[in-house]
Amino acid sequence: MTPSPSASRRHLLIVGPQGSGKGTQGARLAHSLGIPTISTGDLFRAHVAAGTAFGAQVNALMLAGQLVPDGVTAQLVRERLQEPDASNGFLLDGFPRTAAQARLLDAILEESGITLDAVLVLEVPRAESFHRLRRRALEQGRADDTDEIIGTRLDIYEAEVGPLLAHYGDLLLAVDGVGTVDEIAARIHVALTE
Ligand code: AMP
Repeated sequence: MTPSPSASRRHLLIVGPQGSGKGTQGARLAHSLGIPTISTGDLFRAHVAAGTAFGAQVNALMLAGQLVPDGVTAQLVRERLQEPDASNGFLLDGFPRTAAQARLLDAILEESGITLDAVLVLEVPRAESFHRLRRRALEQGRADDTDEIIGTRLDIYEAEVGPLLAHYGDLLLAVDGVGTVDEIAARIHVALTE
C-alpha cells in the first residue's frame, strides 16, 4: 500500500478535462487522505435525480454541455464546504472551472480562513479525453456524453483552463494523465509528496 501523501496537504483541487480520469483519481486520493471529494457535477446530478426545481434548471444546461451560472454554483460549493466532513480537508473536482470561479472560491475559503495547499492538473490530450468519454457513454449512458456535447465541454475547458491555471501560479502540480490508473495514482502521490 502506498503511504499517504503529506498530511499537511489536505485542501486540494483537481483540474483536468472531462475524461481525464480526475473523478477516478480524485476519489482514490480523497479516500487515501480521509477527505471528501466535492464534485459540482455530482452535486448537480444529485439535484437532477432528486427532481428538484433547481435540478430541472441545471439539467438543461448540463444537457447542452454549458456551464451553470457562477452564482448558484458557488453557493452550492459554499454550503457543501460547511458540512462537517469537509472540516478537515477536501478535494474539489470540477470547481472552479474558470478564473472567475476561482476568485469566488478564494472569497468562500477566506470566510473560513482556509488556504488551498495544491492544485493537481491532470494533463490528457484532447483525443484521449474524447476517446475515454465515448467509452464512458457506452458503459454508463450519461446523458451529456454524446459526441457533440463532449466536443462542447472540451472546447469550454480548453478556453477556460489557461486563465484558471494562471490564477493558481505556485500551487500547480502537473501530472501526466496518460497511463494506467495505478501509474497515474503513483504520479499524483509523488507530486504531492515532493
Ligand atoms: P462534470 O461532472 O464535472 O463533467 O460536470 C457536468 C456538467 O455540470 C457540466 O458540463 C456543467 O454543465 C455542470 N457543471 C459542473 N461543474 C460546474 C462548474 N464548476 N461551473 C458550471 N457548471 C458546472
